[in-house]
Amino acid sequence: MLYAQVVLPLAQPMYTFSLNEGLGVQVGDAVVVQFGSSRFYTGIVWSITDEKPDYPRLKPILKRLYSTPLLTPTMQRLWEWIAEYYMCTVGEVMRMALPSLAKPSATSLSDLDERSIEPPTERYIALAEELRSEDTLSEYVAKNSRRAPRRCENLDAIAALAIERNAKDGFVPRRLLSIDNDDISALRKKELIRSEERVVQRVESSSDFLCPTLSEAQNSALESIREAHSDKRVALLHGVTGSGKTEIYIHLIAEALAAGKDVLMLVPEIVITSQLVERLERIFEGRTTTYHSRLTPLRRGQTFLRLATSSGGELVVGVRSSIFLPTKNLGLIIVDEEHDSNYKQSDLAPRYHARDCAVVMGQLYDAKVVLGSATPSLESYTNTLSGKYHYVELTERWGDGVLPEIVISDTIRAVKRGERKTHFNHDLLNDISRTLAAKEQVMLFQNRRGYSPYIQCRTCGYSPRCPHCNVTLTEHKASSRMECHYCGYTMPTPKVCPNCEIQDMALMGFGTEKAAEEISRLYPDARVERLDSDTSTSERAFKQIVHDFEAGNTDILVGTQIITKGFDFKGVSTVGILNADNLLSIPDFRASERAFQLMMQVAGRAGRHNDRGRVIIQTSQPKHPVITYVASGDYHAMARKELEERHTFGYPPYSHLIRIMLRHADYELLRHAAHHLATLMRKKFGGRVMGPVSSALEMLRGEHRAEIMIKIEAGASMKRARKMINEAMTESGKEERYKTVKLSIDVDA
Ligand code: ADP
Ligand code: ZN
Repeated sequence: MLYAQVVLPLAQPMYTFSLNEGLGVQVGDAVVVQFGSSRFYTGIVWSITDEKPDYPRLKPILKRLYSTPLLTPTMQRLWEWIAEYYMCTVGEVMRMALPSLAKPSATSLSDLDERSIEPPTERYIALAEELRSEDTLSEYVAKNSRRAPRRCENLDAIAALAIERNAKDGFVPRRLLSIDNDDISALRKKELIRSEERVVQRVESSSDFLCPTLSEAQNSALESIREAHSDKRVALLHGVTGSGKTEIYIHLIAEALAAGKDVLMLVPEIVITSQLVERLERIFEGRTTTYHSRLTPLRRGQTFLRLATSSGGELVVGVRSSIFLPTKNLGLIIVDEEHDSNYKQSDLAPRYHARDCAVVMGQLYDAKVVLGSATPSLESYTNTLSGKYHYVELTERWGDGVLPEIVISDTIRAVKRGERKTHFNHDLLNDISRTLAAKEQVMLFQNRRGYSPYIQCRTCGYSPRCPHCNVTLTEHKASSRMECHYCGYTMPTPKVCPNCEIQDMALMGFGTEKAAEEISRLYPDARVERLDSDTSTSERAFKQIVHDFEAGNTDILVGTQIITKGFDFKGVSTVGILNADNLLSIPDFRASERAFQLMMQVAGRAGRHNDRGRVIIQTSQPKHPVITYVASGDYHAMARKELEERHTFGYPPYSHLIRIMLRHADYELLRHAAHHLATLMRKKFGGRVMGPVSSALEMLRGEHRAEIMIKIEAGASMKRARKMINEAMTESGKEERYKTVKLSIDVDA
């Protein structure tokens, strides 16, 4: 008898089951087990041993699912790393990683059976063993060609196709043979051929990919990336918008595919990168697989299984969860727009960061890693300063492209001079008028992120900030107080501006809908469209809006960050950022970095194919450092200044933030539990603990939320920190009255 450790898709440790050798189960296989008195689960076999464990009664593994193991040993190491680093169970990783393949649990065994998905198969044909060498085949043909010419022709055709497709075992897809079914049956009856049902293989395409010719600057960037890879280092490609990072990726992808390796290209959101995906598909025809959450579970399951049986040379373009796909021979990982916050999963365990996982995967798979961005994250940038990553820069747009001119439009001055209509300064309106007259296009960006309005002085532009944490304070209407969402500091909402002492504090904020309505009123003849999550509820609606703008059917496109990423619209010459203050006032220590990244992204949409695009940034804080860095396009200056502040306040990249979230319907109980846990944490971590505070979203789905933050200095042992956190959590778990409080952990929050 054998014994297998099995992962179940639960927040539980692994359990041991007995394993009948006759089932032919291997490590990495999906299996069905009974767990609890009446439930059946799909599990993954993690390890097999012949040493009998101590438990008296072990349940057996009931059956094996799928004809192929779902996990390779390397994938197991990745899951283990994620579970340990992000403080969850391997079972929670499994729940995330195998959508529809292994998720279901059921009350009867046959229920699980029905849901199993096999990869698509098709019939393959090969000549019988005796005929596979050229000599024996010609001998046979010479002997039989007069008596049975059709039969010999057919055998020749099979042999020829096998050579053409370089099929090492001689098997070729039935559908590619123009032979009738009757003839195939006749060959089979005479045992001249063998046939097998096999999983569909990717189309064999040539590896002569049609790559674009690179400019001199692109070529030296490519060389520099190669150098990094020969040193086994991660390359950070920092290239301004329109510099042609994609073209460099294409060369790297082509090389890897030609060498029979798999390539994983991560993108922040598949829909908004549709232009990129189309471009890749044209070049890597037949090799490209896309993977994202809008695919049906069945499709995702099939994609997973197809990759699990692939022999290599696959290009997977997908969102963060693509890191869980079973590429066996991974040679290259590209993380495009590596700074994008979509790479971090924060709502559900595992709360992983796909970019950071990609770097770990580079080591596990011995694969090359490229991180690309026009505005790298400060984490990655810092890694280049320390020499851990290799820094590659592209400072110019490709071809004749020039970077747009950036104009800062002072909203407060505009108001004073009567040069503002509703939310638009005359600076911007003049530009829009000029652009429309020239039959060119306008994009207007309004950020609607943020759960509650912030407060700002209408006279001087001041917004109150936390004296301890340097983030904007959030207004809490019920208590009429403003609170810091990091440390819990509060103050009464001021009626008079603490800065200029004029009674002119106002709740701020307007959304895209209002902006679109107002701009339509100002330009009744212009065709205005809006692109945000309200107008693009389906992929079709989204594509329609994008297509209309691309085709020039729309003059003005108003949108949220959705319009900022990856688009390459030819006719845009004016881009307006309607309220940069919004971006500067997000209560997050990353606000400045994010604001810079967003504005640079938005600006990057202008003048990509025109002589000179213009970007008008409306702000009441024209002297704000971030605004001045955007105006000069100086990433390095922004990074230097921002890193200084992070250092002062001990924020990442100089620390790791671990957020512990508590949830409960009973507010008082939650408050007590949070204080209790925070006290236990302080005993271990002292001043590194912040909070508890009510979460940014205080109430969600009927539950109150509170959180505790722990700052672990960079360089300190995360392993030890995790151990101490677990100990404190176990101790607080002993407290009977807090048993119903739900806890979750977000590492690198
Ligand atoms: P990025 O991703 O760096 O913003 P892209 O890769 O989208 O830039 O390139 C910007 C534009 O320049 C695209 O329209 C692209 O087709 C074009 N381009 C860049 N490099 C080349 C090249 N080597 N050959 C042809 N076109 C290029
Ligand atoms: Zn604070």
